[in-house]
Amino acid sequence: MKYTVVGTAGHVDHGKTTLIKALTGIDTDRLKEEKERGMSIDLGFAYLNLSSGVCAEIIDVPGHEHFIKNMLAGVGALDLVLFIVAANEGVMPQTKEHLDILQLLQVKKGIIVITKIDLVEKDWLDLVSESVKELVQNTFLEGAPIVHFSAMSGSGLEILKSKIEEIALSIEPKNASLPLRLPIDRIFKMEGFGTIITGTLVSGILKINDEVEILPKGIKTRVRQIQSHKGKTNQAFAGQRVGINLAGIKTEELNRGDVISQPACLSPSNLLDAQLTLLKTSPHPLQNRTRIRLYIETGEFLGRVILLDKEVIKPGEDGLVQFRLEQLTSAAKDDRFIIRLYSPMITIGGGKILNPHPKKHKRFKKEVIEELFAYKKGAPEDLVEQVLMNTSENIISVDELSKMVNLSKPEIENILQVLTQKKSILCLHPEELVIHKERLDGLKTKILETLKEFHSRQPLKLNVSKEEIRSKLKLEEKIYGFCLNELVKENSIILVKDKLHLTEHRLCYTPEQEKIKRQIEKVYLEGQFSPPDIEEVIANLGAKPEIVREVISSLFELGILVELEEGLIFHKDILEKAKQILHTYLVKNSSITVSEYRQLLNSSRKYTLPILQYFDTINFTKRIGDKRVLA
Ligand code: GDP
Ligand code: MG
Repeated sequence: MKYTVVGTAGHVDHGKTTLIKALTGIDTDRLKEEKERGMSIDLGFAYLNLSSGVCAEIIDVPGHEHFIKNMLAGVGALDLVLFIVAANEGVMPQTKEHLDILQLLQVKKGIIVITKIDLVEKDWLDLVSESVKELVQNTFLEGAPIVHFSAMSGSGLEILKSKIEEIALSIEPKNASLPLRLPIDRIFKMEGFGTIITGTLVSGILKINDEVEILPKGIKTRVRQIQSHKGKTNQAFAGQRVGINLAGIKTEELNRGDVISQPACLSPSNLLDAQLTLLKTSPHPLQNRTRIRLYIETGEFLGRVILLDKEVIKPGEDGLVQFRLEQLTSAAKDDRFIIRLYSPMITIGGGKILNPHPKKHKRFKKEVIEELFAYKKGAPEDLVEQVLMNTSENIISVDELSKMVNLSKPEIENILQVLTQKKSILCLHPEELVIHKERLDGLKTKILETLKEFHSRQPLKLNVSKEEIRSKLKLEEKIYGFCLNELVKENSIILVKDKLHLTEHRLCYTPEQEKIKRQIEKVYLEGQFSPPDIEEVIANLGAKPEIVREVISSLFELGILVELEEGLIFHKDILEKAKQILHTYLVKNSSITVSEYRQLLNSSRKYTLPILQYFDTINFTKRIGDKRVLA
């Protein structure tokens, strides 16, 4: 069985309820007050089984301007609208207001029904028909079938039925494979049963004994019984109207607008980002922080609207907004909504939810606006990329990301795979962390720039400590390590233990420093295996000691001078020479004592022993008793 939700719309007293009664035999004005006043106040429900096997679930709405709130609770799930205009009165204020609402909610299909044709002459009827056609120009009703109907004679009824059938067959059914969502439109107590709610399944399947959650309060309960107009049933599908008996819940706990869903599927929020269109008929431009009433599905929420990308939204224009609501909603991405002014209560616009779980935004933030445009475009890959580009953290977890874009973990994982293949993002395993490639490149550039800055500030220093750069850039350990590895692979930096420098970095001596460098090297080369004391060298050089010290420390960093122990310094070429001598000797003699080596070097024990110990530490020699052998 296919279910299509059909609703009425139109000005009060134009014959909506009468038409539904003629179609279905059901009087939707069920309240005592409705009977007394002869007017619909709240939603009424009926159904029509069509010969093709389609069931039209019918929602009759009140037309009176005082009950627009109730009308709005009924039209959220419409697949097809019967747009009703009485021939004797023609287009009236709520004819227009209802049309605006249907248009903003993006109802796709409609049939125009001109009622009460028994009350007018043919000429008048033609005039009214023309004015309705004019009204619906450039709306979804442009080109819709027009049926002339009289409840007195029944004329037009069969044509109307066949039109409903024809359109219902062409309508894409609501999606039963999405998670369950059932916005509540009525709540009442029934003797012997307890709490009953009614509503139209917007998506999913509802089964008897299902554990469900009622949002936004998060009340967990069980479906005790499901009733459709056919009687008791074990399950209901998207598009179907149901009454549900819920276990252990008091009617006072529930409100129209609450949503029944699968547990842990939707998470309520009082902030919503949205795209908003202001009606051409709105009396004023919409100002930032205007107090509004927001209508989503069957719910009404009070709050303020923050304009994110415009100073004001003019009538007929669009804007990106954030709703800051006084209550929680359980809206989902792409839900349509209507807004009315808090007072006077007039409909001024509507639109589509872009992000149902945003952070609080400041106005006119470029990243926020870009992100919302990506939400608007709707391609999930773009959205994921935008979020990754704009989050405050460089790197975020897959779980976090899935919440931010409101996609399930498997959906997110698919998208991440696609983006990884496109090389737009990078996933770190097994941590399940994600970073956008552009941000990664940005970080790498920043690291290189920071290094360059350090180098230019200290031209005689080769290395910078790893930690110094990290803490300057305030980078997360993980991503920093990852960036450094990449930079090493690309040969942009040289990383040894916890020190690094740009590969291209060369120490840069002034002519004076260059001269000192040469002098120092000369002294240590000439000192051979009995080098001079460093303090003496500094004192005898005749240059400013601090400049000499700076040059000396650069020579250490470059490895030209090597300090074997405190104050004992050799030129690297001399150590190399000592090594050669030792090697030649050990190849011939297999072992050597300190004193034998001292004689070979023609030096004293004071210098010879540290040299041998140094060779031990670099694994060139090995000590056995008082002798050394090749390691
Ligand atoms: P609604 O407010 O749009 O639901 O209008 P109702 O269905 O309650 O009808 C309002 C009044 O118009 C009632 O008194 C109906 O009897 C009357 N009415 C409805 N349809 C017709 C019609 O086709 N011809 C005539 N003459 N009266 C009608
Ligand atoms: Mg009515």
